[in-house]
This record gives sequence, C-alpha cells and structure tokens, in this order.
Amino acid sequence: MASDKQVTFVIVGGGIAGVTCAEQIASQFASDEVCLLTASPLVKTVTNFKQVSKTLEEFDIEEQPSSVLEEKYPNLKVIQSAVNLLRAEEHLLQAENGQTFHYKKLCICSGARPKLLYQDNPHVLGIRDTDSAQEFQKRLSKAKRIVVIGNGGIALELVYEVEGCEVIWAIKDKAIGNTFFDAGAAQFLIPSLEAEKKERSLPCKRARYTTDKTGAGQSGATGELGSALGPDWHQGIELKGTEQNSSGVHIEYECEVSQIYTQQEFLRSQLDTEKSELGLWPAYVQLTNGTIYGCDFVVSATGVVPNTDPFLSGNHFELAGDHGLRVDDHMRTSEQDVYAAGDVCTAGWEPSALWQQMRLWTQARQMGWYAARCMAADVLEEPIELDFCFELFSHITKFFNYKVVLLGKFNAQGLGQDHELLVRCTKGQEYVKVVLTGGRMVGAVLIGETDLEETFENLILNQMDLSRYGEELLNPNIDIEDYFD
Ligand code: FAD
Repeated sequence: MASDKQVTFVIVGGGIAGVTCAEQIASQFASDEVCLLTASPLVKTVTNFKQVSKTLEEFDIEEQPSSVLEEKYPNLKVIQSAVNLLRAEEHLLQAENGQTFHYKKLCICSGARPKLLYQDNPHVLGIRDTDSAQEFQKRLSKAKRIVVIGNGGIALELVYEVEGCEVIWAIKDKAIGNTFFDAGAAQFLIPSLEAEKKERSLPCKRARYTTDKTGAGQSGATGELGSALGPDWHQGIELKGTEQNSSGVHIEYECEVSQIYTQQEFLRSQLDTEKSELGLWPAYVQLTNGTIYGCDFVVSATGVVPNTDPFLSGNHFELAGDHGLRVDDHMRTSEQDVYAAGDVCTAGWEPSALWQQMRLWTQARQMGWYAARCMAADVLEEPIELDFCFELFSHITKFFNYKVVLLGKFNAQGLGQDHELLVRCTKGQEYVKVVLTGGRMVGAVLIGETDLEETFENLILNQMDLSRYGEELLNPNIDIEDYFD
C-alpha cells in the first residue's frame, strides 16, 4: 500500500556517492531518520580507506546487502525502489513502490549510464554495472572477434583484459588512452598489449573492487539502474573468447564508426567491397576511414550520460553541457534543498587551477562525503569551505598492469601552448612526465613503481619555482626526495 513519509534527509542512489553521503549524514545526525533510496539491491561501501598522501587516496569497494548499512546506522533506512518522480517545489519524492517522501534536504546520487553509440541495437553492448559486465562475458565466450569503440578508461582496461578473441579497437584520437595519457605514455603502454598474458604480471597496488557473490548481478526493478562498476571490475570475471591463442589487438586510429550492419543488411547492401573476403559475421562495422570489419558484437565504451531523467520533469534544474545536474561549491543544484554528488552532477564552481572533474570512483566518494557535510552545515547554519580534495586532481589506478598516478593538469588540460613537458621513460618499467608552466609544476603522469607521487604532489601544491633545476628534476641518479627536503 502506498505510504507517505516525512524525513529530514533523503539520499537517492546506492553507489559510492550516495552511500558515502548517507553514512556521513546518518552518523552526524544520529537522532534524525535518513532514507537511502536505491534502484539496485546491493549497495556499494568503501572499505580499507587509506589516505596515501595529502590528496591521493586508495580504498576497496564492497557490494553489500543494505542490511549491513542499517545495522551500522540504526537511523538509516535503505529502501530498494527507484525514484520515478520529484516535485522539488513541494519537497516531495515518489518511488516506484508507491511510497512518497517529504524531505527537508535531498541529495541525488543516481550516477550515469553508458552513452551508447547506437541505442537498442542488439549487436552493441555498453558496460556499466555488474549485469552488463556479465552479459559481456557471456557473449565474449562465444566470440572470435569484437570491435571496441572508445578511448577512455573502460576501453583501455577491456582491450588489455580480453583473451582468446581478436579485438579491433577503433579510436578517434592519434593515441590510445587519450583521456588519461599523451602520445608518449601511449607508446610506452602499447608493447603491453602485444605481450602474452603470462608475461603481463607486474606487481601492483591499487584499489580493489569486490563483488558479493550472493546477489551480485541483479539490477534494479527498472533493469538499467545498477551501480557503476569501478577499478578491477573485470576481476573474477573471465574475459575469454573462443580462440585458444590470444588473437591480439588491432588499433584503428583517428576514426569513428559510420555504420553498423546486421548480417542481412550487410549482404543486401550496395557496399563497394568484396563481401566474401570479409567472411560471415553476425555484424559488420564500417569505420569512417572506409574499412569494414565483420565481428560478433561491438562494445561501445564512449563515455557516460548522467542519470537525471526521473528528476527533471516539472522542475527547474540547471543542467551543464554534459547533461549533469549543475552544482555550486556547496554541492547545491539550482533547486532549493536539492544537492547532487558523483557521476550525476557537474561541478559548476570556478575550479582550482589544478583540479578538474572526471567521473571517477574517488571523486564520487569525495563529492558524496562533501555533499553530506554541506547539507549538515546548511541545517546547522554553519559556514563551510570547499574541501581541500578539490584543490588538486589526483587519481591512482592501474592500466595494463602498471600502477598509474595522475596529478593536477596531467595532460596539460586547458594550458594551450603555455607549458613545457619533461619526460623520463624506461621501456617496460616506468614513464614519468611532468607538466610545467612558468617554471612551476602543474601536473604529472607517473606510470610504474616510480615512488615519486608524494614529492611531486608537494611540488605541485607548493608551486615552488623549479626553473633552476631544469631537466635535473627527472634525473634518475638524483634522489629527488632528498633534493627538496
Ligand atoms: P553509481 O555507482 O552509478 O551509482 C548510482 C546509484 O544510483 C546506483 O545504486 C543506482 O541503482 C542508483 N539509481 C540510479 N537511478 C536511480 C533512481 N531513479 N532511483 C533510485 N536509485 C537510482 N572509476 C575509477 O575511479 N577507476 C576505475 O578504474 C573505474 N573503472 C570503471 C569501469 C567501468 C566498467 C565503469 C562503468 C566505471 C568505472 N569507473 C572507474 C567510474 C566509477 O565507477 C564511477 O565514477 C562511480 O562509480 C560513480 O559513482 P556514483 O555513486 O556517482 O554512481
């Protein structure tokens, strides 16, 4: 039966942003009821949180049943039902199960979904949550060749992890991993793609994502609303095609998909190509450079779109260019008492010169935590300043089995010509790049076990003039830590 509930704090979304926000607010307001509404049956919790340096953090993620959260915070109630209506002016939210909630403060953390190149095409798959990763695995186990489109983190991990299946990787840039790397770093990583799997085991520390066996893989009632996967999403999922040997990755640079054909469409088409030479495949992909590949299916890893749909109708949210809910430096949307955090939102404040938003795990946690503190400060009528974590962009991850640390304007984002790069590279071991502007360090890419992250983070944060050190800065024979201590 439908019911109506008055709650001080309502949070929507059981991903890392929503859960972090709910935990923080529930512990700070122990005598107020907090409701977490989520479409997915499991919630994501952060464990083993470790502050590696001033801004770098590492943690594990666990998918857990909501009862674990409720036991930990007696005032926190988790309701598994997707929100389908918001009337912001009335401070009213309605869930699919018929329940309505009158809130004082609401935080929307509904994440994002894959931006699919072709909607509703059975030959095109996006990877976002446990469900879609398992669907991918199932289809891959019967595949000989797949086409991967996109050049971000997901595509990078995917092409590296797939075994026993030929991968055609179409990217629109001149180098792989354009979101994270420059051409030099890409060049450093390419040999890893060609190496056999057994040679690919360098020791590496990184955030680990674990999946609870009991209920993983079920998505919410609406089918598409599971939480986003995160680091190591492929751990425990065998990504293997039908071929015995690793069939390699072929990269098609600077091109996009112009058309995807089903087998029938392809055979009937007037395309000027020797059809029989391409063999018989379930689908055919035509690239903008004219090449056509037959394949079993296509993986579209071309970014995400914020999940804002259920919240927009009848309200006046200001949306950013990427369709995220625009938030100010207190994580407030343009609707009164509605906050947003994680992948669903877009930072609308004037960012620090060394920070940029990227829809990443770490930022989802930081935003969820900071949004809770902002809601609390608002209720208590206390002032609050933008958190220090938004001062410097920092991210630890792993690509192709190498530890990767990204700091500040690691790709000289927004610097135009006004910068200088210093690079040190030892094939198969490490790639170090620093970005300098006016003699000061503003960004760095560290691949491998460089042990430089803390020193470089300090140099970026203190903006020391490094002009007189020149290239010595990356001299491997100098212990740079001693240098600046
Ligand atoms: P989500 O985790 O997407 O959670 C959204 C939640 O909202 C879900 O619980 C969902 O069920 C719920 N929801 C949605 N709509 C509704 C509704 N209407 N009503 C109620 N609930 C709703 N980041 C990294 O930092 N490193 C990586 O290596 C990395 N790898 C990735 C690999 C993959 C394959 C993917 C897909 C993402 C990866 N990311 C990675 C990105 C990272 O996972 C996301 O940035 C992060 O999970 C976002 O967290 P969130 O809480 O904002 O959203």
